Amino acid sequence: MQRSTHPAPDLNTPVQYVKGIGPKRSDVLRKLGVRTVRDLLCYFPRDYLDLSRVEKIGDLRQFMNSGQFVTVVGRVRTYDTIGRPPRQRFVLVLEDETGTISLIFFQSLRYYQKAFEVGELLAVSGKVTAFRNQAQIVHPSIDRLAAGDGEESELEGFLHTKGIVPKYSSSEELRTVRLDTKGFRRVMKTALEYYGEAIEEWLPLPVIERHGLVSNRDALQSIHFPESQAALEQSRRRLKFDELFSMQLLLALRRKNVKMEFSGLSFSVESRLARQLVDSVPFQLTKAQVKVIKEIAEDMKSPKPMSRLLQGDVGSGKTIVALVAMLIAVDNGYQAAFMAPTEILAEQHFHTLTGLLQNIHVNLRLLVSGQKKRVRDSVLGDIREGVAGIVIGTHALFQEAVKFAKLGLVVIDEQHRFGVSQRLALKGKGITVDGRPLHPDMLVMTATPIPRTLALTTYGDLDVSTITELPAHRKRIKTTLKYESQRESTYQFLREEIKQGRQAYVVYPLVEESEKLDLKAATEGYDLLSNQVFPDLKVGLVHGRLRSEEKENIMDAFKNRLLDMLVATTVIEVGVDIPNATVMVIEHAERFGLSQLHQLRGRVGRGASQSYCILMAPDWLGGLQRKLTAAASPDDEQEEQRKTERRLKAMLETTDGFKIAEIDLELRGPGDFFGTRQSGLPSLQLANLLTDGDLLKLARQDAFEVVNRDPHLRLPGHLPLRKYFQEWMRDAITLIEAG
Ligand code: ADP
Ligand code: MG
Repeated sequence: MQRSTHPAPDLNTPVQYVKGIGPKRSDVLRKLGVRTVRDLLCYFPRDYLDLSRVEKIGDLRQFMNSGQFVTVVGRVRTYDTIGRPPRQRFVLVLEDETGTISLIFFQSLRYYQKAFEVGELLAVSGKVTAFRNQAQIVHPSIDRLAAGDGEESELEGFLHTKGIVPKYSSSEELRTVRLDTKGFRRVMKTALEYYGEAIEEWLPLPVIERHGLVSNRDALQSIHFPESQAALEQSRRRLKFDELFSMQLLLALRRKNVKMEFSGLSFSVESRLARQLVDSVPFQLTKAQVKVIKEIAEDMKSPKPMSRLLQGDVGSGKTIVALVAMLIAVDNGYQAAFMAPTEILAEQHFHTLTGLLQNIHVNLRLLVSGQKKRVRDSVLGDIREGVAGIVIGTHALFQEAVKFAKLGLVVIDEQHRFGVSQRLALKGKGITVDGRPLHPDMLVMTATPIPRTLALTTYGDLDVSTITELPAHRKRIKTTLKYESQRESTYQFLREEIKQGRQAYVVYPLVEESEKLDLKAATEGYDLLSNQVFPDLKVGLVHGRLRSEEKENIMDAFKNRLLDMLVATTVIEVGVDIPNATVMVIEHAERFGLSQLHQLRGRVGRGASQSYCILMAPDWLGGLQRKLTAAASPDDEQEEQRKTERRLKAMLETTDGFKIAEIDLELRGPGDFFGTRQSGLPSLQLANLLTDGDLLKLARQDAFEVVNRDPHLRLPGHLPLRKYFQEWMRDAITLIEAG
């Protein structure tokens, strides 16, 4: 009745106007990014308490060690803190009419000791494990059904109706305005009751039908108040699809834009220079190299700007592929820029390319930040006047002062070290013809293979070429794990290899947030090795704090075999190519990330002789390994140990960069991987790139199809899509434009 006098419910209404929220609560919500009713409805539960499937305590034995989550409801019979540190724990015995079970806590003992009352009614969820053949639950999640603070009536209601109860994340500040999990349940209920009918469908009907998705309205209802596990599952699937579809739509539009609105260059790919190069190198290109060169050449021939990702494991020979592309550009009268993530790598590329181009007439220039002003000015002049054909550099290439006469191709090496914004900055340095900007072609390269799901998201706007094989005659690098107490044997081994004319790297880890400590570890290692362990050998030291000239001198000395051993910090992580170095010792291997270990290992095994990688780890890791298999408490610390162990094990098991990348992604989660957070894509709330790969594929297909047919989303069937997408993108767009 009353409703007719109100305006129709609109999801864009500020949350303040939802009954029961008001200005104070909405102030706090705004800080979470919750501004409108739509935002509120997208504040999904972090978990659920499933009272629809409560087990009897007497039946729990059958779930022992099954890994399955179960829920029981019972009263507190006894509780106490028992044992001594480090085995001290809090034990609570819960009972119902069929039996008792122990709940075990290893952490926050003091809190738990005061938290419960004998006789109070709890709902408890977790995995049932066995201890001395008794069923127990370690660190369960607990909900009080009756604690005497008013909470009881609400949850008991769910208990009677056997409902699934949503739980919401809260915070200190939210609780001060009584938005704890219970407060959220109330406002969600109200918001859904009043605004539910305003939730419109936005996905095109054919998409919904094709994948059997539930409607948007049902999905948002059920994600908050599911009637069954099946309904919850369906709504999760639908909402995950929405996230993935939106993301893919964004990528599809981005790619379409690049291709439609910017004109690129069309090169003639019959290049005399490139032919000369391929004929002059002392090896034959692998089949995989030939294949990717063809793909790149196709792109360069086409007038659309190339945006291609070239991935290939360390040592697969990406440099020469890039050089072929650059020579094509030069042959067409354009310049090419080759960007590396570190000065060392830029310098090394400069030397390598100088060598490869010995008998080929191309002007190479190097631009790094540490150069003397006179040198720098002359390099800048050559770039501006078009004298420089290929310019190699670091991010110094981005600076305002750098003006290219006729930039036709940009190659970015080891892309995973750069942010997306940097990638875009170089792109803006194209040329203008008749007032029209012409965008240079772009080739980005990475040695850290990108797992398939990420290739479709973070890098989803790029075409992908992959070098799938290593050059022939490479021997598989032998990797071993040595503990501190076995250090002597490592030194012994180093000495033998060096005696046979080989060279070695000894790498020290980055100590978190402290470049100084980092340096100290390496410097001390250097002192020890050069003065005490190998006083008879020639040992060098290189680290990030050296001036670029010093770095260059040391790397040159190592390359020319004036040094037997190079002690280094992670500055040599990427790209360094010295085939005679066959041993890589990684100190404190337990502190490195997996991809980083793989990159480091890739510095050896670059020639035809057998190479070795020795991972040094402290003794306690070896000890803990044994302990781990026996005890199984889900402590954070033990979780860390498990991951460390997994990383080192992966290194011993495989040299396949793709496998390594998958394991790394699994261990670290996609957010962390290559800093995808700065990727300029909105983050995913429900979808998980690791486990939702199949759904991602479907969403991608559909999104690209939609954009291909209707690039501006103007067809009548796409209007809701367009509208929704604009809402969804409100925040994301600014992010991308900033990039
Ligand atoms: P990455 O892909 O790690 O950048 P590089 O381009 O540095 O690898 O190549 C690694 C080494 O392999 C270099 O010394 C290079 O000259 C050599 N190389 C490249 N292609 C071949 C090939 N087809 N056959 C033999 N050696 C090759
Ligand atoms: Mg390389």
